[in-house]
Amino acid sequence: MSRDAHDILARVFGYNAFHGDQQAIIGHVAAGGDALVLMPTGGGKSLCYQVPALMRPGTAIVVSPLIALMHNQVSALREAGVAAEYLNSSLDLESAKATERALRAGKLDLLYVAPERLMTPRFLDLLDHLRDTEQLALFAIDEAHCVSQWGHDFRPEYLQLSILPERYPAIPRIALTATADRQTRDEIIQRLHLGMARCFISSFDRPNICYTIVEKADPRRQLLNFIRNEIHSRFTRTAGIVYCLSRRKVEETAAWLQEHGIAALPYHAGLPTEIRAAHQGRFLREDGLVMVATIAFGMGIDKPDVRFVAHLDLPRSIEGYYQETGRAGRDGLPAQAWMAWSAGDVVQLRRMIDSGEGEAGMDYETYRRFARNRLDALVGLAETTACRRRQLLAYFGEETAAPCGNCDNCADPPQTWDATEAARKALSCVYRTGQRYGAGHLIDVLRGELTDKVREKEHERLSTFGIGSDLDEKRWRMVFRQLVAHDFVCVDHERYNALALTETARPLLRGEAGLFVRLPAGKLHRSKRQRAMRERSIPGGVPATLFERLRVWRANTAQDRNVPAYVIFHDATLRDIAIAYPATLDDLHQISGIGEHKLEAYGKEILGIVAACR
Ligand code: ADP
Ligand code: ZN
Repeated sequence: MSRDAHDILARVFGYNAFHGDQQAIIGHVAAGGDALVLMPTGGGKSLCYQVPALMRPGTAIVVSPLIALMHNQVSALREAGVAAEYLNSSLDLESAKATERALRAGKLDLLYVAPERLMTPRFLDLLDHLRDTEQLALFAIDEAHCVSQWGHDFRPEYLQLSILPERYPAIPRIALTATADRQTRDEIIQRLHLGMARCFISSFDRPNICYTIVEKADPRRQLLNFIRNEIHSRFTRTAGIVYCLSRRKVEETAAWLQEHGIAALPYHAGLPTEIRAAHQGRFLREDGLVMVATIAFGMGIDKPDVRFVAHLDLPRSIEGYYQETGRAGRDGLPAQAWMAWSAGDVVQLRRMIDSGEGEAGMDYETYRRFARNRLDALVGLAETTACRRRQLLAYFGEETAAPCGNCDNCADPPQTWDATEAARKALSCVYRTGQRYGAGHLIDVLRGELTDKVREKEHERLSTFGIGSDLDEKRWRMVFRQLVAHDFVCVDHERYNALALTETARPLLRGEAGLFVRLPAGKLHRSKRQRAMRERSIPGGVPATLFERLRVWRANTAQDRNVPAYVIFHDATLRDIAIAYPATLDDLHQISGIGEHKLEAYGKEILGIVAACR
């Protein structure tokens, strides 16, 4: 029997309105159409197949690439009273058989499967049986970008999913991903044979995430200050992720944060599997842990209450930056994306690209150009003095009408300096000295310092000697860092970091381009900005005691039931309870996130806690 989408939304999930395209997508799939859904993290993709799964007769088959992800989704659905199961390699034979029996008997609303399991002859037989008895509701292909050979989440088994439309042409398919770029989208359509599917493309804006990018001075100290000032002063026991490029740096940073009183755990591919699983499990279940990780920690982290994502190293591309920062604030509450970067990072990444092996299906030169362009776009984002969000979205082809007001540059417009003339002087000094010296010596020449080396090389006789005495050494260092970051000069590490001109420098030398750089924010500026940001994101007037007690209750309940805390209730739901002080079950039912099943299971207990706090 088919049920109305709104009815299911309210009764099962406890929400009163659909977000964005959800309703249109659900209507389309429930009516039997194929769909490709591109929606940012936190946009609410799961409901797009979960609601039609309950509207259509039979079982929905959900293909999901990660065991942890399946497990959490199934736990959350069961908490809402939905008949959901999963099949993957983590199950013992008996449980797997029981699940197969339930599936055959038509007892399941949703079944999550790993792609390699789906492709086994045994499972395809089961699906044939379901189709023949009209018990197959739909196929959902989650994290559909895993078919893309360009991305680092590539899963070869996803390619075989193209047999679904051949074998089950009458069954609707919905593919979902949070990857925004055009190339991946086209690849999904082509490889999954979704040419006839309707595309639903949401805005990729994450309005609740505040973007901040700073230049590195003392990065770990800057990170600690960020966590203390921007996060811990506002929220108690907050979860966050800190990304680093290398395994060693992950371990060192985690240890350092621990020494400074932050509960931090390391995570990278070099750790034994059990430790990785244990750390991931603790991060998901416990309140307020900071995970220091390489990008090995990523997909499948569907924890909704991650309050910040920090980068201690530049990611390789805007796509990477967007995906990684996107793990913050899935629940829609205010969250922070913070990054510290330096021109040195850029040099290191360029070196890695230049010494890399290329990628599957690309010759080396194409790969190099591709990877360098992607990195340069990210450097542009780090360097910009305009709204970060605007630039980020523009990269994905989205236009925004006005600056966002929720990034560092909007909150506190940086001072800029026209460095065009200084940059030209520096470039000509690089050229006149024969492109064989590092920044230190070049600065001496520019500033007219008669050092031993200057004398030895007779550089005091050059036309560029002393033409930059108006700027101090610190400012010249900054100019050279910018020249490197913009790839106007390249660094030869084999030859004592000698600088040489690149093709990119030509327009600047010819006077066809300028160079504007941001000046570091002054102390006064910063505190004003911090105050402004803090005021904006305190969830208005939440009675702290009740909220904290509800969190303690939730932590205990989650532990008893062996599920992550957010599977019981999200922070946003607890916050709304703490604001509303519900007195009756009816009052409680009005709160977003409390469906019939949870009302029955937990309603009385919650009312008890509320009453005790009056
Ligand atoms: P995604 O998979 O796109 O990252 P999820 O499906 O995990 O997003 O949803 C993100 C959060 O938003 C979840 O906590 C979910 O419960 C919540 N959510 C989704 N749709 C709605 C809605 N219509 N009303 C209220 N909350 C919603
Ligand atoms: Zn902005």
